[in-house]
Amino acid sequence: MLTIGCHLSSSKGYLAMGRTAVSIGANTFQFFTRNPRGGSAKAIDESDVAAYLEYAEGHGIPKILAHAPYTLNGCSADENVRDFARRTMADDLRRLEYTPGNCYNFHPGSHGGQGTEAGIAYISGMLNGILTPGHRTTVLLETMAGKGSEVGGRFEELREILDRVTLPEKMGVCLDTCHVWDGGYDIAGHLDEVLDEFDRVIGLDRLKAVHLNDSLNPLGAHKDRHARIGEGQIGLDTLVRVINHPALKHLPFYLETPNELDGYAREIRLLREQYRG
Ligand code: FE
Ligand code: FE
Ligand code: ZN
Repeated sequence: MLTIGCHLSSSKGYLAMGRTAVSIGANTFQFFTRNPRGGSAKAIDESDVAAYLEYAEGHGIPKILAHAPYTLNGCSADENVRDFARRTMADDLRRLEYTPGNCYNFHPGSHGGQGTEAGIAYISGMLNGILTPGHRTTVLLETMAGKGSEVGGRFEELREILDRVTLPEKMGVCLDTCHVWDGGYDIAGHLDEVLDEFDRVIGLDRLKAVHLNDSLNPLGAHKDRHARIGEGQIGLDTLVRVINHPALKHLPFYLETPNELDGYAREIRLLREQYRG
């Protein structure tokens, strides 16, 4: 069974997201923990969480993926920005304890000219200041397109962050197909080789989720503009090979394509038809 869903608005709570996911043929979903541009989060509604957990159990939603606000920058040159990232992530992880056993994905950040090494030191330092043995959420580093001074555009950079985290068992990686393509990893021409490289550098056992997106731009463009499935430069054939690849087919896949719900429903239907479980 293909585990697939898309990014959903969290404004109406967990149960509403679960119902929406089921209505479009999804059996998982991704959501922002708060306004994607940051800011304070609504208090957790415990009755909504309880209703959601029962609904998820009854409707075969095995796991979900939380996404940190994309403005978090734990490796900014500005101490206030780093501190905001640390407090926000700590608060998100506290809130995610209401729905334990899921993953929390974040963008490593942009070093803003300080250099990749400085960025890596800040990011791993932030994680070491937050993670505790009691956390029941796995924190995922997202593979990035390498736009500007982004950290995480190379597998080696993610490996270095993981190596410096003192609780590595709390960590994993989320592979974004648009980002790795834009980062210069040719998944269309050499999917096996790219996954071999991921395995050699990071380890496929660290891979916990896939963001399934096409890209508007050519290989190595370092742009990060998502396209609908089959409407970009990666193409439908490759994305079908991604969901069916023996190293990936067991993972949850999340669409972050420019779509409304009906478009997501169509993409999910199409990909389910192409899945050879
Ligand atoms: Fe992301
Ligand atoms: Fe993504
Ligand atoms: Zn992106």
